[in-house]
Amino acid sequence: MQEKRPLSRQKEKPVKTSAPEDHDDLRDALRALCAEFPPEYHRQHGADQTYPEDFINALTRAGWLAAMIPERFGGSGLGLTEASIVMEEINRAGGNAGHCHGQMYNMGTLLRHGSDEQKRKYLPRIASGELRLQSMAVTEPTTGTDTTRLKTTAVRKGDRYAINGQKVWISRIQHSDLMILLARTTPLAEVKRKSDGLSIFLVELDQVIGKGMEVKPIPNMVGHETNELFFDDMDIPAEALIGEEGKGFRYILDGLNAERTLIAAECIGDGYWFIDKATGYARDREVFGRPIGQNQGIQFPLARAFAHLEAANLMRFEACRRFDAHQPAGAQANMAKMLAADASWEAANAAMQTFGGFGFAQEYDVERKFRETRLYQVAPISTNLILSYVAEHILGLPRSF
Ligand SMILES: Cc1cc2nc3c(=O)[nH]c(=O)nc-3n(C[C@H](O)[C@H](O)[C@H](O)COP(=O)(O)OP(=O)(O)OC[C@H]3O[C@@H](n4cnc5c(N)ncnc54)[C@H](O)[C@@H]3O)c2cc1C
Repeated sequence: MQEKRPLSRQKEKPVKTSAPEDHDDLRDALRALCAEFPPEYHRQHGADQTYPEDFINALTRAGWLAAMIPERFGGSGLGLTEASIVMEEINRAGGNAGHCHGQMYNMGTLLRHGSDEQKRKYLPRIASGELRLQSMAVTEPTTGTDTTRLKTTAVRKGDRYAINGQKVWISRIQHSDLMILLARTTPLAEVKRKSDGLSIFLVELDQVIGKGMEVKPIPNMVGHETNELFFDDMDIPAEALIGEEGKGFRYILDGLNAERTLIAAECIGDGYWFIDKATGYARDREVFGRPIGQNQGIQFPLARAFAHLEAANLMRFEACRRFDAHQPAGAQANMAKMLAADASWEAANAAMQTFGGFGFAQEYDVERKFRETRLYQVAPISTNLILSYVAEHILGLPRSF
């Protein structure tokens, strides 16, 4: 008779975290929805590098992706705090919020800087699920993290703009109707500060794909739907401009702070997922006649990673609180993202070690989540750049680049 391979599920019980309890109803509703999409579902999409359309549709139908849209436009009027809990719970349930988080952080930019006309035109249709605002195009192949040197230009011609240039790593284009685009409207040589002269636009994708914008998918390690974009005199109406011309970098920072905070929450969700799985497995798996979880060599890395997750989670909630209160949140958003990404990566390594050889088998999902959470050491901003930000803007040290 074949021996049964070790399975962790029998003894797995979600670890009790110190997250505030005032969102338990929200978490329960999300857990119920996520439970309809079992690990096999996410595993299959991960292996096939396909988009989990049914899952994202279910989240949309339930209104979760419209969480931040004000009630008068058909949304739930919730804050970044609640939006971040949506993201956390998706990842804690074994999914990957990277397939839909764009809608949340882009919303921060549109809500704070879009005109009333833009809000009236798009928000009700986003809230109903008719439109998706999933894409944000910032990164470029030759300038990378040095965002203010980006080379894509937007030149006004009467009541239109002509866009020329190139972007890379622009996610979810195939599952979005709208994209926020950052481009230079005044040449770098003509501005006082390099962050001046950049503008953001809300681009209707069906008006430009194949008509000035070419899309080239980038197959990648995490099955994330992401692309190169090429703009050749892409023609967009002047009404696509968000806010004032030349101030786009300032506007997009709100979106970037929201993005960092949401990704911190996703890392927290990943981290708790790793802890749940690894502790369940460690209680269950017997070697040398006792559960491996009885060995301190297995316990301590998990306990340490859990403590780091709990600490990072406090900074994540502080970043959310400040963002929702319209207070400066750049420092907290950046630090939350770094601390949470480090803690989830630490938990991922500890889980991988706990599972031993079985961590490498796809059916346990550890290797998939391990790859997925590794991304957040690099994107949407790498750890080095966060450390530079902290050194310069908080510690007052000279700028290093
Ligand atoms: C799967 C995926 C999805 C993405 N989705 C999007 C998206 O939807 N929209 C978008 O605009 N972008 C997106 N990105 C891009 C992402 O934000 C960038 O990859 C990230 O900001 C890093 O930029 P880069 O890859 O150009 O690295 P680079 O800027 O080339 O940096 C490479 C390495 O050098 C280090 N480095 C650079 N300068 C310094 C310095 N001065 N000091 C110390 N270290 C330094 C960095 O920390 C990094 O580790 C995505 C990326 C990935 C991988």
